[in-house]
This record gives sequence, C-alpha cells and structure tokens, in this order.
Amino acid sequence: MSKINIYDIDKIKNINEKRVWDLLVTFYEQNEEYCTCRDCILDVAAITLNSIPPHYQVSDDLTHAIDKISDDEILKVIEEAAKRVSKFPHHL
Ligand SMILES: [Zn+2]
Repeated sequence: MSKINIYDIDKIKNINEKRVWDLLVTFYEQNEEYCTCRDCILDVAAITLNSIPPHYQVSDDLTHAIDKISDDEILKVIEEAAKRVSKFPHHL
C-alpha cells in the first residue's frame, strides 16, 4: 500500500506568497502614488508572484527562501509590477 496521502499537498506551501503579501504592505506605505484598490493590488501580487521563483517547503523558516531572493529584490519586482499595472489598470 502506498503511504502517499494526497491531502498532504496542503502541508507544503510556496512561502514566497506570504513574503510578497508582507512586502506589498511595505511597498504601498512607501509609494503612495500607486492605486491601492483591490483590482490593482491583486494584479500587482499576481505579476510579482509570476516573476519570482516559488519556494515550496513544509516549515515556515524563511532562511533558504531569502537566500534565493532577498526582500529588496522582491520589492524591486513589486515596483515594476506596480508601474505596469498603473499604465494598464483593470479598475473602472
Ligand atoms: Zn486601482
């Protein structure tokens, strides 16, 4: 019998998702010129997450994820995404 439990997929997560959400808060606090409506923030989050490597793991330890891409590097990607979204916003 296989010991693989398909529900264990929930136990591994891309911890860069949480990092991006936290860094979005920092970014918008420091860059008030960008629109903070829900549509724009979701677009910026999606573009950012598509642009950085995922980092899947079981624990919440950030050490290895930070080695792969730093907070400053993610903030630069967020800025590029915010510029793109502000040029072509989906909000009404
Ligand atoms: Zn907007």
